[in-house]
Amino acid sequence: MTNPTLHVGCAQCGTTNRVPATRLAQDPVCGRCGQALLAGKPVELGDANFEAVVAATELPVLVDFWAPWCGPCRMMAPAFEQAAAQLKGRAMLVKVNSDDNPLLAQRYGIRSIPTLVRLQRGREVQRQAGALPASQIVALAGA
Ligand SMILES: [Zn+2]
Repeated sequence: MTNPTLHVGCAQCGTTNRVPATRLAQDPVCGRCGQALLAGKPVELGDANFEAVVAATELPVLVDFWAPWCGPCRMMAPAFEQAAAQLKGRAMLVKVNSDDNPLLAQRYGIRSIPTLVRLQRGREVQRQAGALPASQIVALAGA
């Protein structure tokens, strides 16, 4: 029996990595740049690299559209980090600064922030507007 592998996009360099399913929680690193692929922390993506990384990633991807001036966004940030730690090796949590990345905010029709969008292989499957506690962020990731 072969060990199943999952594709994971590197948030640093955009390379698609094949990671054995059994090693997802064991700090896999990118084969090209050495960056941790699933470090249990949110990664920042933007207009330039978002598509390549999320479309390549076979784990659930949960995107937080936020901006620095948004109070509820800042309030939710620690909960998002907690959720990322709990979901280590099971999901990729992504932050997109909607001020710096207007193309993504427009493409996803973001009208209020924070808005969380769950993607599977780059396709939106669910979204939720408004700040959430860590437990609900974890549930939304569906991992
Ligand atoms: Zn890389």
